[in-house]
Amino acid sequence: MAKLLSQDHFEVTNGENILYLNSLAVQAKAEGKKIKNATIGMLYDEKGALADFKIVNDIIKSCDDEPTKIYGSINGGLKFSNSVKSWVFDNVNLERVHSHIVATPGATGALALAMRNYCDRGQEILVPSIRWSNYDSIAFQAGLKIREYNLFNSNDELDLDSLKHAIDVSCKKFGRAFVLMNDPCQNPTGYTLKIEEWKELITYLKEKSKNYPVILLDDIAYLNYSKDSYDEVFNLMLDNLTNNFMVLITFSASKTLSIYGLRGGALIGLANSEENINDFRKSCEGTCRALWSCPSSTAVKVISDSFDLKETRDNIRKELDNYRDILLERAKLFLEEADTVGLMCYPYQSGFFILIPCENNKKISDRLISENIYIVPMCGGLRLSLSSITKKEVKGIARAIKKAMK
Ligand code: PLP
Repeated sequence: MAKLLSQDHFEVTNGENILYLNSLAVQAKAEGKKIKNATIGMLYDEKGALADFKIVNDIIKSCDDEPTKIYGSINGGLKFSNSVKSWVFDNVNLERVHSHIVATPGATGALALAMRNYCDRGQEILVPSIRWSNYDSIAFQAGLKIREYNLFNSNDELDLDSLKHAIDVSCKKFGRAFVLMNDPCQNPTGYTLKIEEWKELITYLKEKSKNYPVILLDDIAYLNYSKDSYDEVFNLMLDNLTNNFMVLITFSASKTLSIYGLRGGALIGLANSEENINDFRKSCEGTCRALWSCPSSTAVKVISDSFDLKETRDNIRKELDNYRDILLERAKLFLEEADTVGLMCYPYQSGFFILIPCENNKKISDRLISENIYIVPMCGGLRLSLSSITKKEVKGIARAIKKAMK
């Protein structure tokens, strides 16, 4: 007899590990064990409390009025759109292109909208060999497949040859290309592309767009944890749009404002023609209506009010500077210890995570759990979340990993 579950049901591919291991760590802590939980991509301060922003807390406390209960506008409304623009493109002139912003439940929702509307069913999206595992599940839910390009070449830089090859294959096979980047502060490595790497990639995509529709999606979930300004990259994107080359940006309020459970985010469309941006608006807003109807009014209010005024934006940036410094200090401690004990890591610049290449990563992770250290085995390595452990807790982890690998 046929199973109740349809043969076409969706399976979570490999995004399960992170939340599962986090739940084991939380359980162990609740049982009184002294553990280190380096699993989850949520930012904790040096006291072990969830990082938060004073202004955001005040706005959340004021969310008991009608506007946070009613059905809001499908795209989040004008204030939301202007606020997100002011935050993300603070020093970038967006007026020279056509743009539109759609509010989504986190960057996850934005990724779903982008994949559903800018790929043909069965198309392969181009993703790095080392990546956030949930991309695969979102793509499969959209009826898509995955083609990997190699993330790093032998010089520990973006493997542009491999990426260009994947673009060529996609254009030949599907008559179009959809390239997914996660920059800056890539999850799980903490790598940020150099401007030269961006220039070479964008030049290639623009050239390809003479013959094929080309979409570049940049997932900027960790934008605000990068050491460097991203304005030059945005300018490069805006200056190179063509009728056949569009850029999509996914923004996460979870990471920027430390409001993970509120589910706030946005998909930003950047195009060089009114026709392309109208298509974006109609298709993406139509998809929102079908998938989640309208965005969370509370998340929309929190994002809109947080970024509305220059003064509040400046205050949030100051608090973010502090959190970024804490992350960098944690990274420095870990990398120095790794160096001392001879533990190799992929190139890290900034952000929540460091990836340690590791054979038998599942076995090593189990060994570490038995020593009360929780780290996620993924992408042929162990992903250490710097965001969820204190500086004090960082100490000893590199040494413990090296020992567990022996
Ligand atoms: N993109 C990356 C690279 C992530 O690591 C995450 C979450 O961990 C997301 C997107 C999704 O975040 P959210 O949907 O909470 O905005």
